[in-house]
Amino acid sequence: MRRDHLTSHTSARPVLEIRDLNLDFGTPRGRIHALRDVSLDVPAAKVIGIVGESGSGKSTLAYTVMGLLPENADVSTGSILFEGKDLLKLPALARRRLLGDRLSMIFQDPMTALNPVRTVESQMIDIQHHEQGSRSEKLARALDMLQRVGIPDPQTRIGAYPHHFSGGMRQRVCIAMALLVKPALLIADEPTTALDATLEVQIIHLLKDLQKEIGCSVLFVSHHLGAVAELCDRVVVMYAGEVVEEGTVRDIFHNPAHPYTRALLECDPGRIRQKTRTLPTIPGEIPSLLGSKKGCIFRARCPQAFNRCVQESPIEYRMGLDQVARCHLLDKKRLVSA
Ligand code: ATP
Ligand code: SF4
Repeated sequence: MRRDHLTSHTSARPVLEIRDLNLDFGTPRGRIHALRDVSLDVPAAKVIGIVGESGSGKSTLAYTVMGLLPENADVSTGSILFEGKDLLKLPALARRRLLGDRLSMIFQDPMTALNPVRTVESQMIDIQHHEQGSRSEKLARALDMLQRVGIPDPQTRIGAYPHHFSGGMRQRVCIAMALLVKPALLIADEPTTALDATLEVQIIHLLKDLQKEIGCSVLFVSHHLGAVAELCDRVVVMYAGEVVEEGTVRDIFHNPAHPYTRALLECDPGRIRQKTRTLPTIPGEIPSLLGSKKGCIFRARCPQAFNRCVQESPIEYRMGLDQVARCHLLDKKRLVSA
């Protein structure tokens, strides 16, 4: 069970509060336990990054918040409070109404969000269906937003179809659409992964500027640690469906407490100073997520594992006000009894 939350010392209620969330995928091989007791907060006007290797559950978490899960997904326990309402208990219609209004999403592939057979203009007008105002007012807002995301000559370009735009420009159109409705929370699932490095930097700066201007919160899913360091206020580290560490960007990048976070940082291409032909990877693989697990989920790959790690799942230990990690090494009682 989760602590009183890390950000609870700030007065404003977080926009998003996820508590003890467990999710399984039913498969012919059995139930894949893809989210394990996940708890986290997204405070108002803050950017929270979720990092972890492929298969750690980052996208599943993002899609669960959005209510865009496949049919074989089953949330067994937990709550997702968005602006105080539990999304998991909201009737389907009320939940759908939130999408594209209070809650927006940017996907890795912009074509997931764009309709290929409709012009950008008609899609940008439609997305404002919750807003007051005439069609020409909505068109003016759309043009203004396209200008702000750096689409050259928006008056002409808005009449084009999505395939007339390059990949980077399409992602800018998606960001414009997602932010046009001034959401309280923007979920961005690997929005820069398909772009080259220069475009990635431009998009990250753009997201940062717009987030500040609009004042929304962002849940930013990425395996690119450099992008997370650039954009985020706090970082949540996931491994095999669990949150193993959480803290400010400074703490996670300069003072990581969990062996997995340290291993992830050591393998980050952006931090490797020596020339090398082969980038290091964390030895071993993410364990099978079938069924429940005894002991620490990282133990098979952890260079510091000891007997207790096989027997007992670690609880979260707090370091200072702002950082928690799930690792037996942080248990102060262990040091006293050693
Ligand atoms: P990536 O960075 O590759 O997107 P991720 O951290 O986002 O990885 P998820 O895509 O959330 O990880 O996957 C978490 C686990 O759930 C993985 O083991 C994945 O195989 C499994 N999974 C995801 N979707 C399904 C599904 N529809 N049916 C069965 N298993 C699934
Ligand atoms: Fe490693 Fe044990 Fe800590 Fe898990 S609990 S991260 S196995 S030392």
